[in-house]
Amino acid sequence: MKRVVVLGATGSIGRSTLEVVSRFPDTFKVVGLSARRNVELLAEQAKKFRPEAVAVTEEGALDKLRNLLKDSGIKVLFKEEGLSSLAGELEADIVVNALVGSVGLRPTLAAIEAGRDVALANKETLVMAGELVMRRARERGTRILPVDSEHSAIWQCLRAGRGEEVRRLVLTASGGPFWGKEGLERATPEEVLAHPVWRMGRKVTVDSATMMNKGFEVIEAHWLFDVPVDRIEVVVHPQSVVHSLVEFRDGALIAQLGWPDMRLPIQYALTYPERLPGTWKYLDLVEVGSLRFYRPDTSKFRCLALGYEAAREGGTAPAVLNAADEVAVEAFLEGRISLEEIAKINEATLAQHRNICDPSLEDILEADGWARTAARELIGR
Ligand code: MG
Repeated sequence: MKRVVVLGATGSIGRSTLEVVSRFPDTFKVVGLSARRNVELLAEQAKKFRPEAVAVTEEGALDKLRNLLKDSGIKVLFKEEGLSSLAGELEADIVVNALVGSVGLRPTLAAIEAGRDVALANKETLVMAGELVMRRARERGTRILPVDSEHSAIWQCLRAGRGEEVRRLVLTASGGPFWGKEGLERATPEEVLAHPVWRMGRKVTVDSATMMNKGFEVIEAHWLFDVPVDRIEVVVHPQSVVHSLVEFRDGALIAQLGWPDMRLPIQYALTYPERLPGTWKYLDLVEVGSLRFYRPDTSKFRCLALGYEAAREGGTAPAVLNAADEVAVEAFLEGRISLEEIAKINEATLAQHRNICDPSLEDILEADGWARTAARELIGR
């Protein structure tokens, strides 16, 4: 029996995780769940899965949750400390981190310190602190299991050879709703949020339209698989059927394919190294017919180039880019800046930053705070 904690249980990855878990009741036991503010759904999930503890992070949601779960015997925790308690203090084998934003970093570290494997869907963990997180995981002998579809694909493809035989990683990108179309500059939040292939949270959907998401994924892939940034390539593949590829030194290019469905990578992370049957639609190659790939235009998608730049610089640069982007995306969703200004804010914030090499957690969090203030000032102008 694998004991599972799901952080961010009410979001799209969290809900899919619980769907996977509920199909294998003899394999998994949910011991902890968290949500930001959706206490109704969290209480419903808690009643179904009977975890030992739940946590909610948003101010004002605690009383409501306590009320919904009174007499249930389920412990109710609060705030970011609650997340870290779920990740590090409950008796668990695997922590699924599906939190959105920089709030996901500390719980990942808490899980690692406690010796738990982490199924990681929270991008910020590796974007902000990839070096630190991977080092601590190595020292503690725990595994970081990727949940993102691209990184899961690479992880699966890597089983075809040895680390020293890898020549190149190829990340595929959907290109977002504006691939091959004009009007990116004037796009409204509504247009951007209508992603053609993947149903995701708002932040990552906007990041997908600017390709910032892919820039972050390059940084994550660099840390997860210990491959130099310049051997990680991005190709646009609007169909999102090939989830990513690995090229070995003899030129063999290994790909993982499937219809876009997050349940497969989630299930693979939970059952690794085993594979269990899926409930989703299996890929029919004839139905797909043809596969198309394009080189991304980094002068149009500046955020992708910024991702590479920050990855090459290392240190606190990726954390700064991440923080600036969170502020800029929020401003875009509130109608205060245009889509194209997101890249400008990100670039200007990064340019003002004094990078710190081999940063500690404190350095990273300080850089994160600095970048938020700097980005807000730039937006205010
Ligand atoms: Mg992805």
